[in-house]
Amino acid sequence: MKVCKFGGSSLADADQVKKVCDIILSDADRRVVVVSAPGKRSTDDVKVTDLLIACAEKKLAGGSTKEELSAVVDRFAGIAGELDLPESVIVDIAEDLRGRLTMDFDTDARFMDAMKAAGEDCCAKLVAATLIKLGAKARYMNPLDGGMILSDEYGNAVVRPESYEKLACVGDFDGVTVFPGFFGYTVDGAIVTFPRGGSDITGSILAAAIKAEVYENFTDVDSVCAVDPGIVPDVVPIQEITYREMRELSYAGFGVLHDEAIVPAVHAGIPICIKNTNAPDLPGTSIVPERVHTEGRVVGIAASGGFCTVFVGKYLMNRQMGFGRNLLQVFEEEGLSYEHTPSGIDNMSVILKEACFDEKKEQHVLTRIKSELDVDDVYVERGLGIVMVVGEGMRYAIGLSARAADALAKAGVNIEMINQGASEISIMFGVKAEDCDKAVAALYDAFFR
Ligand code: ASP
Repeated sequence: MKVCKFGGSSLADADQVKKVCDIILSDADRRVVVVSAPGKRSTDDVKVTDLLIACAEKKLAGGSTKEELSAVVDRFAGIAGELDLPESVIVDIAEDLRGRLTMDFDTDARFMDAMKAAGEDCCAKLVAATLIKLGAKARYMNPLDGGMILSDEYGNAVVRPESYEKLACVGDFDGVTVFPGFFGYTVDGAIVTFPRGGSDITGSILAAAIKAEVYENFTDVDSVCAVDPGIVPDVVPIQEITYREMRELSYAGFGVLHDEAIVPAVHAGIPICIKNTNAPDLPGTSIVPERVHTEGRVVGIAASGGFCTVFVGKYLMNRQMGFGRNLLQVFEEEGLSYEHTPSGIDNMSVILKEACFDEKKEQHVLTRIKSELDVDDVYVERGLGIVMVVGEGMRYAIGLSARAADALAKAGVNIEMINQGASEISIMFGVKAEDCDKAVAALYDAFFR
């Protein structure tokens, strides 16, 4: 059995939905299908999830949601109409959306998640109806009935371990099960979503739960490329990449697969294959446990802005037992998860995502560090980007960091920080966020041309 996931661009309009159904029906093993909400039809279009967020924000601000609601209903009605689906499909979708908007809710976050999840939920109903219309045996499955139980972190949920056993039954149906991505339910029965782009995570969890032969992730590119093709044209495609390499690259900005989507499939030993909905016969990129040919050394380079550093300096830090723990405890108590902690003998930097560290939080954290840790120096630098050079073969190669540093120097990119993880499959460079693209292009030239 195969689990396939289709992203928003694969479901953006009726033609795309038709393509998706043809792909599903062309292989009898494609029995569990995970869908995103319809995405953009063109660069200036708006994703259904963003329309739903705008609708929820309007409601929370006490305004009229009429315009946003009809934009969402119209998107689905347009697709259903072109596919000639029964009228009842769109009546149900419109009723479902109105029901969500008028539901009782205790917190804004809970309401927001119920609204955000509607795009995937309605899309799954629509795809199931299309498959049935095409004569296939298909069903829509609600994540509550399937057993997708998540933590109660609204907008940022993780799967609860008991879900895997419950979800195993999703594969029992002898037709196609269409399962909405991106959300599940808390133990209390409230709708809760994964982080944005989280339908990839749903697919991976389902693949692990039903012990699928493969997790096929259909998107709008032929394969994962060595760097973002938006930065470097004619970039080398990647045929095979390991789980570890993909996780590092996804983390640092490769948008093809959500970085949290890799682990469930990895733990269950399920291979992942990235494929193009618009060219499904191409081999795509396989994400595998081990790669035979690692002589290419660097497999990909990714970069992403949106980071900041909290720099802490203290003379004789290396001699003070427990300093690191006490510092990180401040972050933990403030509900901040850190990304990296490069350190020197008398200093330590804590790298965070800027989005979770606003000015108010910054003031508070700095005050605590000054008063509780008796430091010599503490300050925040914003606008940091991280560039990741990744490849399993790097651990056997000499001089790779020198080559990378040389390329960055020649491109006029100032390296603010270098960090090589213990696994030695990646080197991370901290640079100014505005230099990220320049850095990627220079490193691509150095390692691939
Ligand atoms: N629709 C959601 C988003 O736009 C989730 C997804 O597409 O995976 O983030």
